Amino acid sequence: MIYPIVMYGDPVLKKKAIAIEPGSMDVISLAEDMFETMYAANGVGLAAPQIGQSVQLFIIDTSQLDDEDVGDYKQVFINPEIISENGEKWIFEEGCLSIPTIREDVERNNTVKIKYVDEQWEKHEKVFSGILARIIQHEYDHTNGILFTDHLSPLKKRLLKGKLTDISKGKVEISYRIIAPLAKV
Ligand code: ZN
Repeated sequence: MIYPIVMYGDPVLKKKAIAIEPGSMDVISLAEDMFETMYAANGVGLAAPQIGQSVQLFIIDTSQLDDEDVGDYKQVFINPEIISENGEKWIFEEGCLSIPTIREDVERNNTVKIKYVDEQWEKHEKVFSGILARIIQHEYDHTNGILFTDHLSPLKKRLLKGKLTDISKGKVEISYRIIAPLAKV
């Protein structure tokens, strides 16, 4: 099932999501629906709050990037916890399915060590770097109510205000289904 994607300004995107108790919900079908939703929007990552579910789950699939250096990496992250972030800080232009048409430079550490369970409820602890780490940091932020725009300078954010308001009103031209908090019904 393809969900509409929640747009910037919706309170669900600012909330810290809750941890998922084993057996409390069907994480396999939720993840399947999220992959379907993400592919329909040509994304490489999607977090549960972006479909209106305030739980700690995000998915990534880098096959859509078509980047040989990154390769194809598809994974479901449940109850993720970043243990450490290391390596040089680097700048990369990020975008977000909940903030369409805006792309801005964000500075983050190159390497991330993360603990999570997968949809089979198996525990993992892994280290990622480069683009893969970047996608994980971005999606992990979503499970803590943080958006990439929160990393921008106050000046930059002020410059984007009009565009962000338009997105909240649903005034944005994109090909996927959205829910905008300030859209007139
Ligand atoms: Zn995002």
